[in-house]
Amino acid sequence: MSRGGIAMALCRRDENGKRVFIKKPELLAPAGNLEKLKTAILYGADAVFVGGKEFSLRSAASNFTLEDIKEAVEFANEHGADIHVTCNIILHEDNLEGLEEYLLTLDEIGVKAIIVADPYIMMLAKELGVKMEVHVSTQMSTLNSEAIKFWKELGMERVVFGRETEFKDLKVIRKKIPNIDMEYFVHGAMCIAYSGRCMLSNYYSRRDANRGGCSQSCRWYYDIEADGERINQEDDIPFSMSSKDMALVHHIGELIEIGVDSFKIEGRMKSVHYIATVVSTYRKLIDAYCADPDHFRDTWYESELNKAANRAFCEGLFNGRPDASYQLFNLRDEHPTQEFVMRVLDYDQEKHLAKIEQRNYFKVGDTVEIFSPKRDNFTFKVEKIYNEDKEEVEVANHPMEVLYIPLSENVAMNDMGRKVKNER
Ligand code: SF4
Repeated sequence: MSRGGIAMALCRRDENGKRVFIKKPELLAPAGNLEKLKTAILYGADAVFVGGKEFSLRSAASNFTLEDIKEAVEFANEHGADIHVTCNIILHEDNLEGLEEYLLTLDEIGVKAIIVADPYIMMLAKELGVKMEVHVSTQMSTLNSEAIKFWKELGMERVVFGRETEFKDLKVIRKKIPNIDMEYFVHGAMCIAYSGRCMLSNYYSRRDANRGGCSQSCRWYYDIEADGERINQEDDIPFSMSSKDMALVHHIGELIEIGVDSFKIEGRMKSVHYIATVVSTYRKLIDAYCADPDHFRDTWYESELNKAANRAFCEGLFNGRPDASYQLFNLRDEHPTQEFVMRVLDYDQEKHLAKIEQRNYFKVGDTVEIFSPKRDNFTFKVEKIYNEDKEEVEVANHPMEVLYIPLSENVAMNDMGRKVKNER
């Protein structure tokens, strides 16, 4: 039976004859620490992927100890979510020690899946008979159905496609191979090179991108030479090779229709605000599409993502080879349209007073937009700010300071506030 048939079976008609999806794809979010992980789950992620301190790329940065992973799994399970752990290091001989014990511990903790690039870890996980699924990392650059058959024969439960996979190929692959989970990147930064194949960073800074140490050399500024002569002028804008970020926000429906199983968001190093914004936007988008795909309107989603964007968006390689408009050749283009300024800790319904934690500078008179996993966004003007001694202050300029703000609309713990720009 082709996946096309299965995809249709994922839909049914409700009592009014409306088509609805009964199996939604998983929304898989990144997290670089426990705060980000909990935020991702509270804002709608079905699963979160984290890097452990061992056997993972970005091991220095992501810092999840086994204790952290245990807490992550407990929190996820309480909220009906899953934890995936990246074990995607390319193993050198001296990395072998302790691997078996590590995998058994992750399995015992209740991790749902490991994301793996080295064939030995794949084989060992199967030999050990762990309950965890084994997912083939994007580092393996899987782009075609024959490669996926190979992974399937080795017992892999899921393939994370290379970002270089075009939608037209994805459709063919899904039809040819219906019985393996497909995970596809829908949002995040793009490499200028094939993911997992870049040596620029290694060459220029001796930091290995394929072992988690990328120094983002593609985004440095370069002179351009031809025949040994520099051709860019002193006052030219310097040349760099940075790509715009990928956002497939306008293609989620097509991906759901062909039966992609998991939508992956990239960005373990991104902020809490970024993760909350991106996760909640895709959550609402997926839910809206699955509830009524034939009347779905692609309206506000991209503008919502822009509120936390670091760079302009493109559609990656979804539609094939990108052109120059996808690149940030000459200028860094960092332009979040709003700035994360507060996180709600509590709300006193009788006094209409929000207790908040300051995250960035704001002041009396600023307009702030509240966003929440549970309700639609709304804006309000900051009329007063009180410190913990209940003294009135004009500005909130101490990071993480606890403050109080009169607010007539109800808010809840973990709602976030963004300052609407041009309101200084
Ligand atoms: S240097 Fe650029 S292209 Fe290479 S791995 Fe790093 S971000 Fe990707």
